[in-house]
Amino acid sequence: MRRWEYRALITAFLLLLASLLVSAARMDNEVRSVSERNKGQRIITPEDKVVALTFDDGPKAGKTEKLLDGLKERNVRVTFFMIGCQVQDNRDIVQRIFDEGHQIGIHTYDHVRLTELTEEEQKQQIRQTEGVIEGLIGDYDFLLRPPYGDRNETLLSWIDMPVVVWSIDTEDWTGRSADLIVEQTVQDVESGDIILMHDIFDNSIEAAFGIIDELQKMGYTFLTVEEMFEVRETPLENGEVYHHLW
Ligand code: ZN
Repeated sequence: MRRWEYRALITAFLLLLASLLVSAARMDNEVRSVSERNKGQRIITPEDKVVALTFDDGPKAGKTEKLLDGLKERNVRVTFFMIGCQVQDNRDIVQRIFDEGHQIGIHTYDHVRLTELTEEEQKQQIRQTEGVIEGLIGDYDFLLRPPYGDRNETLLSWIDMPVVVWSIDTEDWTGRSADLIVEQTVQDVESGDIILMHDIFDNSIEAAFGIIDELQKMGYTFLTVEEMFEVRETPLENGEVYHHLW
């Protein structure tokens, strides 16, 4: 082969490599689901003990970051149900939640009881929240957690995302001590539970770390809600209400 042929070959190879890299990056951007993003990082079988921690009412400066630090240390991913009106003031936190592989859900824009709204008002609460979050992280497949778990026929007739409530309420918002929250949760937990907490209180965050440490010792793996349902190959469906995996 002549020298110019070598050069042409090398140039062609480099161009091919570059175009592969560009399309890989593009594909990465098009991945909307958290389980796709986290794929390959863990192998879970249906027999494993799994649980999903969920946090409502954030993002909240000074609290959510503390939770994120502890989750990172423990290599645990959770699901955050965010209040839309708090997103703009906490953009860095939302970005960090996304970057660190946690799942993001919607908890309405103003933390309202959806059952007291018309269909149009319900849609506004949810679309507005989708809009502010997608403005930061791009297109995303959200879950919905209605405040207080309240939903009605009207909501379920149009909602175009899975509705996720819970099977364990830690009642962390009542001011219970972290120790009590941990003790009660560890006692009650079953594989497949969805645990309700709030990333806006110090006792909740402390309790979350206690729950993780205790349950990991008992052989539990923590997953996002979406990942947990994929373990059993029962993907979440829009308009369905989910309390737990079992
Ligand atoms: Zn709430």
